[in-house]
Amino acid sequence: MAKDTLAALQLEALQAVMVRTYLHVPFYRKRFDGSRIDPDDVRALDDLRRLPFTTREDLQANYPYGLFAVPLREVVRIHASTCMSVVVGYTRNDIKTWSDLMARVLVAGGVSKDDVVQIALGYNLSTGGFGVHYGAERIGASVIPTSTGNTRRQIKIMRDFKTTALVATPGYAALLGRTLQEQGAPRGALSLRVALLGGEPLSDILRQEIQDCLGVVATDNYGLSEVMGPGVAGECQERNGLHVNEDHFLVEIVDPSSLAPVAPGEPGELVITTLSKEAFPVIRFRTRDVTRLLPGTCPCGRTTRRMARVERRSDDIFIVRGVKVDPRRVAELFVEIEGHASAHRIQIEREGGMDSLTLLVGVEDSSDFDEVRKQQTRLERLRRGLSSELGLSVTLRLVERGSLDPSPSKTPGPG
Ligand SMILES: [Zn+2]
Repeated sequence: MAKDTLAALQLEALQAVMVRTYLHVPFYRKRFDGSRIDPDDVRALDDLRRLPFTTREDLQANYPYGLFAVPLREVVRIHASTCMSVVVGYTRNDIKTWSDLMARVLVAGGVSKDDVVQIALGYNLSTGGFGVHYGAERIGASVIPTSTGNTRRQIKIMRDFKTTALVATPGYAALLGRTLQEQGAPRGALSLRVALLGGEPLSDILRQEIQDCLGVVATDNYGLSEVMGPGVAGECQERNGLHVNEDHFLVEIVDPSSLAPVAPGEPGELVITTLSKEAFPVIRFRTRDVTRLLPGTCPCGRTTRRMARVERRSDDIFIVRGVKVDPRRVAELFVEIEGHASAHRIQIEREGGMDSLTLLVGVEDSSDFDEVRKQQTRLERLRRGLSSELGLSVTLRLVERGSLDPSPSKTPGPG
């Protein structure tokens, strides 16, 4: 699509989404009124900058259905963020759009109707599995919905069913590759050609490892449930940035502290406005993901702008195995489970490309046997509670309280 055609289409869609949110979502009406913005005032794409931002906290404050722009009877699917604090809905049209956009990302990553696509993403409340699944069916590929876990079975299926395209998080793809090597499988035992990786940051080293051990071309893709799920942006086979589906998402890069737009090509926080979502539109949603828009055109011929890989976040949330972990939530959980706050530190440990979440829990030094036994019971209760609430297996270790920094209660996440 030519640039000016795209801009005209974006403006028309933006005007429509302004009117729709103003009429149907009290939250947005109040926000626009408060900023003295009439939906009809949006006459050019640059007017977007005058609109108020929407944060994850805004979405949480309207749990579960407060930001839906259609009545529930028009919603055909409901998903939620990992910690269940944000609920998102889809109309029949939204599901169709989602399938089309995910199909684009899959095709850009090298998938066609001749492929056997193994989707090793969660088929559950999170958006990953179902989002990719519908896109792959839309292309006409043969889809194997293996979901996550059971690594040996995944490999058996990959081999026996002659999987040609794998969709997984980078960490899980690397684990599959390593397990395959441990099994001593000869090179060429698999029919894999491509891997589409998303849900957590993909470093150059990790990509190379996955490409080497699985014998694939690995592309990165990006999406988040608050905006739609996977299908927002994805790399083509050139692997030099993620093409953004700009006809459905307006992207801006802003300085996370001043919230002013950054100079072209500079890094900043990615802000997304949905242009076509019916059930759950968002205006200037602050993703907290840090990236930049890449200059120039892509040799593949796609005219959409490309964004750089997301390598870090502008807040202190980090991503472990595709799950967002908010240190504030962890601190709250200690209180919920034990009835009081506890000195702790969050530690991300990486072993061979797989991240794991370890919590160091501070205790007074004690060699008293009864005390140790009490602490073991406590740790087990904490471990179960935290793992189930965070949706992620957590390891707990007791450390001397003095060895924990008084603040802050975490170490930086990967990337
Ligand atoms: Zn390209």
